Amino acid sequence: MKQAVQVAEAQDIVLNAVAALGAEKVPLRDALQRVSAEDVNASRDIPLGDNSAMDGYAVRYADVAGSSSQKPTILDVLEILPAGKTPQHQIAPGTAIKIMTGAPLPVGADTVVQIEHTNADDFRVAIYEAPPITSNLRRRGEDIHTGECVLRQHTLLRPAELGVLASVGQAQVWVYQRPRVAILATGDEIADPGDPDNRDKILNSNSYTLAGQVAEAGGVPVLLGVAPDRRDVIHDRLASGLRADVLITSGGVSVGQFDFVRECLNGLDFEARFHTVAMRPGSPITFGLVRHVPVFSLPGNPVASMVTFELFVRPALLKMTGHRELFRPRIAAVLQDGMEKRRGVRTFLRGVLSQDDTPPTVTTTGPQGSGILRSMSLANCLIDISEEAERLSPGDPVAVMRI
Ligand code: AMP
Ligand code: MG
Repeated sequence: MKQAVQVAEAQDIVLNAVAALGAEKVPLRDALQRVSAEDVNASRDIPLGDNSAMDGYAVRYADVAGSSSQKPTILDVLEILPAGKTPQHQIAPGTAIKIMTGAPLPVGADTVVQIEHTNADDFRVAIYEAPPITSNLRRRGEDIHTGECVLRQHTLLRPAELGVLASVGQAQVWVYQRPRVAILATGDEIADPGDPDNRDKILNSNSYTLAGQVAEAGGVPVLLGVAPDRRDVIHDRLASGLRADVLITSGGVSVGQFDFVRECLNGLDFEARFHTVAMRPGSPITFGLVRHVPVFSLPGNPVASMVTFELFVRPALLKMTGHRELFRPRIAAVLQDGMEKRRGVRTFLRGVLSQDDTPPTVTTTGPQGSGILRSMSLANCLIDISEEAERLSPGDPVAVMRI
């Protein structure tokens, strides 16, 4: 295996190793933020029939043309028609039906006059203003036609998509399954924030940032807690984590004397695809498969763990959940501060992007050490600096990804 791979190559390796999971049928109320696994065609017209878009009077345009407040048209009112009722009369010359929004258009009517332009008693209505012919009508199928595709496969289901599915009578929808993602933290020095007597410990933040990132990418996080730096314990926890669809570990993956994660993976038929990526933060990241389960061993430093998740795990989870767009859009911005970096290493700075400026500007969040988690919580973007760059100055153009 080649030593350090470049970021783009590592992303290709990961994406070639994973595929969309199977589909499941879920009720609409559980389908928000899921990804459709089917094309859906409308089984009815929307609207079902011609109906009124206003509360008013259904009329024949020929009767009311030229009406004004000086010269109102007087029509006989045949009935009052609520939404959901069928008209009992047809509109003949000189007549009107009082009609509510959504009620079916009576035969003979071609226009609805808004109630605001009329005055009426129980039997007759005066029309003071004639709208253009066919005003205030909603035509059968003007929104959706029977047979028309209203949802494509691989679409993220937002509230609007759920509404469209409901309106064509689809109570359930086929979506891609969500991957269960096991998350194991490692380190003798690490304790959970809820553990008793954790005063002298470094608190486990990675499990929580990673669980949040997993959930945002459409996965289901399964927390496996913190394993001490012991081969037997790590081996057993890894083995149980491999029952999930994806396994993520943090820490213990570098070249320290007590970094046992790689060694333990090798004892579990691990097929490594890469060990080190030419990037900062996060270069010691291992990726491979145990049977079909993708395993990401991320570095322990909190920022490195988040950034490597963003670059490698997130696109994989998006692909597994059926998405086609796997990467964040890139935005061009002007850097406000400067920095120096090592040539050959792709570098991801944490930044604050301001899109109120034209062109957009971006400023780093201050100290950029891979342990400084505040640099992530203050940031709204990652600034992506290419392998080739060595020095950046205020005013330089950069590419950023909103996170
Ligand atoms: P390692 O990769 O195990 O050498 O860890 C690198 C650094 O990240 C060390 O300072 C660890 O204490 C820290 N670290 C490792 N795991 C976690 C975690 N789960 N939460 C917060 N910090 C961690
Ligand atoms: Mg460690």
